Amino acid sequence: MILRLHRQHVDLLKQEAKKVHPVEACAMLFGKLSQNEAVVEKVEVAPNELQSTVRFEIDPVKVAAAFTDADEKGLDFIGLFHSHPAPAAPSAIDLKYMKLWGDALWLILSSTEGILSAYQLSDGTVKEATIRIE
Ligand SMILES: [Zn+2]
Repeated sequence: MILRLHRQHVDLLKQEAKKVHPVEACAMLFGKLSQNEAVVEKVEVAPNELQSTVRFEIDPVKVAAAFTDADEKGLDFIGLFHSHPAPAAPSAIDLKYMKLWGDALWLILSSTEGILSAYQLSDGTVKEATIRIE
C-alpha cells in the first residue's frame, strides 16, 4: 500500500502534534482510495478527548460529522492519524483498535523523532505502508 500525502497536510499534522505535545494529537484522513494506493485530500484534525500521552479518542459526533462531510465531497475514509511522544510504531493499544477499524491506514508521527510511519492491518497482519509526500 502506498499512502500519498500533500506536503501541506504533513505540515498541518506536525504543527498539531507540536501544539498538543506530549498529549497524542489525532486526525481523520479522507481522500481517494484504490486497492494499492491511498491519496489523502482532506485532513480533519480533532481534539484528543482523553488528553492522554498513550492513547487517543475522537468525539464520535466529530467522527460522524467528518464522515458525512467527506461523503458529500465524494471522498473515501482512508484512515486515522495520531502522534506518539515515542517511536512511530503501533502500540499494544493501537493494535487492539486497528482490529476495530478494518483496513484503515494508521498514520503515526513520532513527535519526539519527527518520523512518520503508516501501518495497515491486512489478513490479520500489521503491514507497513510506503509514505510518499508530494
Ligand atoms: Zn498509538
